[in-house]
Amino acid sequence: MKDVIKNAIKKYVLESKSNWSEEINDHWFDEPIIKFASADDPLFEEYKKIIGNYHLTPREVFELVFGEGTYNGGTVISVVLPINEKIRKSNGMQTEWPSKEWALLRTFQVMYFREITKYIENFLNERGYRTISPYHSEWFKKIDEPDSGKALGPTSNWSERHIAYAAGLGTFSINDAFITEKGIAIKLVSVVTELKLTPDIRTAKNHTENCLLCSKGICGACIKRCPVNAISKEGHDKIKCYKYAYGEEAKKLAASYGGNYAVGAGCGLCQTSVPCEGKNPIKSNY
Ligand code: SF4
Ligand code: SF4
Repeated sequence: MKDVIKNAIKKYVLESKSNWSEEINDHWFDEPIIKFASADDPLFEEYKKIIGNYHLTPREVFELVFGEGTYNGGTVISVVLPINEKIRKSNGMQTEWPSKEWALLRTFQVMYFREITKYIENFLNERGYRTISPYHSEWFKKIDEPDSGKALGPTSNWSERHIAYAAGLGTFSINDAFITEKGIAIKLVSVVTELKLTPDIRTAKNHTENCLLCSKGICGACIKRCPVNAISKEGHDKIKCYKYAYGEEAKKLAASYGGNYAVGAGCGLCQTSVPCEGKNPIKSNY
């Protein structure tokens, strides 16, 4: 069943008409990587200590939607959507603001995240397994200034990066992003389903193994790429980053490109023209 689900999602991404950019005459997102975590993995409970008590477990997610007592185990499916190389390369040439292609991707992804998770929900619901996309649930919320836990700066009660880590899709990086086998320039979506599947195994030695700076003390290319000095060897200033990438100037830039003012242009300079852009750098003999 895992292969059936993986093949269906891959086919959907590569064949859906909406995943096509006139701007680059190619897909916005390349073939995805899909992995599975047990909904009862103890790591989800640990996230309440690591991130904050507000971060929900799959059980809580499921019962918020289907009612108390409905949960009987299941699986979290996490999907990596790699950003097309043409979009990555266009952003890699920028030194201050994101490229038009990168900025328009943000406008597109808002619609596409709903579309692809709806597809996965329907695919499993039709086969008799209740399934929910947490990011699109009415209780999902972004938290600007968490008052519990250790996250400093904007966060949410369902972190796609932490979900992807639980599923064994990669590790975190010095710039607070997530490095997968298809690199750091990616987007993530997930669903929680009552279908029980064999979980994938986490093979990373620790939660930052794939970042060259975190694991080997070398690289730091993303530090030099940041136009507002929001990254240092000590870590990532989420607030400084957020104000730049989603502030008024970034919103105006998105609108000037024909994108959605409200979602802004993003930035992603620290995810492009860096060794981890499109691959896992730890496997490249650096
Ligand atoms: S550019 Fe280098 S230091 Fe920065 S996240 Fe990638 S591997 Fe880590
Ligand atoms: S997204 Fe942009 S502003 Fe934020 S850390 Fe990366 S380069 Fe800096």
